[in-house]
Amino acid sequence: MGLLSLGTPLDWPSARPLAPHVRKHGIEQFLALWNKIKDRRGDILLWGDEIEYIVVAFDDETKNAKLSLRQEEILKVLSQSDHETREAAPGLASQIPTFHPEYGRFMLESTPGSPYGASPKELRGVERNMRLRRQIARSHLKPNELPITLTSFPRLGVTDAPFTEPHFEANGNASRSMFLPDQIINPHARFPTLTANIRKRRGSKVAINMPIFKDVNTPSPFIDPSIPWDRDFFPEDREAKAGAAKPDHIYMDAMGFGMGCCCLQVTFQACSVQEARTVYDQLIPVGPLMLALTAASPAYRGYLADVDCRWNVISAAVDDRTPQERDEKPLPLDGHTPRGGLDRDSIRMQKSRYDSVDSYISQDPLNRKEYNDNPLPVNEELRQHLLDSGVDELLANHLSHLFIRDPLVVFSEMVDQDDNLSTDHFENLQSTNWQTMRFKPPPPGGQIGWRVEFRSMEVQITDFENAAFSVFIVLLTRAILSFGLNFYMPISKVDENMDRAHRRDAVNTEKFFFRKEVYRTRNRHHSRASSAEGQYGDIRSRSASRTGSGRATPINGHSNGAAGADRFGALAENWPPVEDEYAEYSMDELINGKGDEFPGLLTLIYNYLDSLNIDVETRCEMGLYLELVGARANGSLMTTATWIRQFVQSHPEYKKDSVVSQRINYDMIKKLDEIERGVVDAPGFLPAGYARRRTSQETQPELGA
Ligand code: ADP
Ligand code: MG
Ligand code: MG
Ligand code: MG
Ligand code: MG
Ligand code: MG
Repeated sequence: MGLLSLGTPLDWPSARPLAPHVRKHGIEQFLALWNKIKDRRGDILLWGDEIEYIVVAFDDETKNAKLSLRQEEILKVLSQSDHETREAAPGLASQIPTFHPEYGRFMLESTPGSPYGASPKELRGVERNMRLRRQIARSHLKPNELPITLTSFPRLGVTDAPFTEPHFEANGNASRSMFLPDQIINPHARFPTLTANIRKRRGSKVAINMPIFKDVNTPSPFIDPSIPWDRDFFPEDREAKAGAAKPDHIYMDAMGFGMGCCCLQVTFQACSVQEARTVYDQLIPVGPLMLALTAASPAYRGYLADVDCRWNVISAAVDDRTPQERDEKPLPLDGHTPRGGLDRDSIRMQKSRYDSVDSYISQDPLNRKEYNDNPLPVNEELRQHLLDSGVDELLANHLSHLFIRDPLVVFSEMVDQDDNLSTDHFENLQSTNWQTMRFKPPPPGGQIGWRVEFRSMEVQITDFENAAFSVFIVLLTRAILSFGLNFYMPISKVDENMDRAHRRDAVNTEKFFFRKEVYRTRNRHHSRASSAEGQYGDIRSRSASRTGSGRATPINGHSNGAAGADRFGALAENWPPVEDEYAEYSMDELINGKGDEFPGLLTLIYNYLDSLNIDVETRCEMGLYLELVGARANGSLMTTATWIRQFVQSHPEYKKDSVVSQRINYDMIKKLDEIERGVVDAPGFLPAGYARRRTSQETQPELGA
């Protein structure tokens, strides 16, 4: 979560009429900023990760692992000790990690004290930094509490036993959930307001339905006996029966089910806006692959699901679209109108505000316009204004697409702002469009440059894995830029990959679309296209409308900006049909390579490492990380989701009925903690020797080493 504004949040009836004002000034604020920073250059690569934790409280008597709701107290103690460390050792200030609040009152987020550089030497410090953060968090908890990096808490919202410490009834007015009390929400006014305003705008509670995993004793059809079907506390209680809860699905009815999930995010600084746009685009097709590889959330509300990932859960958990915008019929209940909580006509929106990216934004001539093949509803007035103000079409489309949404939380003290100084209205919409990638302009007046955030990954149990996936993405970004790699394919195929990534054991059973020719060798496109003229028919008529001369591209990561379109445009006329540019690959092929057909992302990274002059030890350490990714991709090591499934299904208390009982959950979290601390090995899940490596590192000096 970003910075928390202070003030009085408006309820939906008061916030709604301000939406056009916030959007208009949001764009003015962007433009004021844009005019100052569009030519900013020369920022160095810096990057940082964000790790989210669930705080678990064990009750060893009842054998229950519950969610501890002490976020506020914990953060207070953490910032106090932070303060003391800074006073005692001012030289170390930049190394002191930062802890942030998150949506769930049982969650913490940590980031490194200052961003890392990209040298391989610095990459070696990442795991230690992550471990230090975990250790600091851990040392500030009660003896029965534990910060655990589990993407979804399997028993959030169960109705057969308490799942929070302390326990509360689910009868809160913000979410009106039948399962989650409002006390699981961060009490800062922003969060309950966000929750209530999503519900009110939508015109009903959110409805999350994840397919249940059908085991041999799971009833079929599965009509969930744990739903209080006949509760009559809020008018919304009737929604489940009226069709919101689908048979054969795990039904969830509150924002907390999604925003209570934990993830691993990585943010990069680019040297210029052009480079940021290149990195943004090239990482778009990588998003679903990393979601599948890091899959870690196979259980919800006490049941095993038939999906392995959180993404669609969060997507539905904050889906504020009206039935009309979603193109769905409202539930047959009073108060459920097609327009939800709106009194104006609304446009069709294909996706939730938490969803995959909808458009490529780079001006690189490799970005053929055919790749942007998703419907892209935009705010036409704002789009035109951006164009009239000199913003190029791709960026204008991107922004005016984000700005089809309404601001959900408006603080009464913040309505009128100086658009030259503030970016608050811009950030209001920017930061509540939760997509797989985020393009982040430099904040006003600061030292920070253009950044791109990679947001699809699920958090892993150990910091070894979290470091491995972070380092993988950082090195891939470096390889993309130094070799000028080209991962473009139609963005609708990226969305298809998102769907596939969710499926149970997608890594081993699904194929994923990816571009065949990833090297930026335009002359190859050229010769191939001309030799295939007969086969492709009149290529000219199908290709992009750009024109220019046709020189071969140097292998050079820094993108060409607007001028590039002229320099390389003619080649576009010889490009093959888009459908010939991609193929379907297994995850193993995509990561580890497929003979001469596809190099594999790891090969690209190793080539990049070979181009650097690095010492053996660093190379070895990087190798451990990259091997983990390779092993997860070829199935020789299982994903976290598979480990969780296997643990549940082989537990003596498991009745083959998809139920994750209190005791199974308790034993599982204890076990995951032992694995994380290296007390036990986890064969088939982590590399042999993980435990030894983990325990030997325990004794190393932690801070400032
Ligand atoms: P948000 O929650 O809005 O995504 P956070 O502040 O929690 O943002 O995390 C941002 C991440 O970006 C952190 O890991 C931080 O170290 C990193 N970071 C900070 N400054 C820079 C920078 N100039 N370039 C790249 N990354 C940065
Ligand atoms: Mg976060
Ligand atoms: Mg954050
Ligand atoms: Mg955030
Ligand atoms: Mg973030
Ligand atoms: Mg989708």
